Amino acid sequence: MVDISRRDLFKITGLTGGGLLASSLGFDLKPVYAASRGLKISNAKEFKTVCPYCAVGCGTIAYVHGSGGLNTVNAVVHVEGDPDSPINGGTLCPKGASQMALAMNPRLEKGPKYRAANATEWQDVDWDFALDWLARKFKDARDETFVERDEQGRTVNRCEGIGWVGSATVNNEDAYFITKTMRSMGLMYIDHQARI
Ligand code: SF4
Repeated sequence: MVDISRRDLFKITGLTGGGLLASSLGFDLKPVYAASRGLKISNAKEFKTVCPYCAVGCGTIAYVHGSGGLNTVNAVVHVEGDPDSPINGGTLCPKGASQMALAMNPRLEKGPKYRAANATEWQDVDWDFALDWLARKFKDARDETFVERDEQGRTVNRCEGIGWVGSATVNNEDAYFITKTMRSMGLMYIDHQARI
């Protein structure tokens, strides 16, 4: 039992909130915090993902509520470091710990946008338009810059006019797939941000 005088008790209640008071009185609040977090994520779906912010590529678990059915909205209710990740072992830096704000931001763009040459405004386009445009540009640039033989006549079959840069969330498997695909097109300049 903690030995505390009446005067001390008034001082503590005047200066602190209930949580600190409870700890001052010798109660262990860890189970309470754990239980409140448990309630928050109970029945939520778990998605393993990667922090989108920097090249460290910390593993993350996003907890999502919502059935996805008619008139329901899926919402990320909690994000925490993935304890199974060899990169971060369950930890996140302050920026990574706030990544839920990015996912739930109402200003987050959820579809492709297109700005024609010399235009000043972006316009919303659908994915069919965006992928057709990308495929056309890729093919044209490859045709224009593909080199079959170098100056000494050796076969090189390389595309010198396109580079590929992946995002911070490119993991090992994505990187393998991207590298194989782009190399098969003859690309040499291939990289991505995360080192995971
Ligand atoms: S949690 Fe921090 S260190 Fe880890 S990837 Fe995100 S921004 Fe980088």
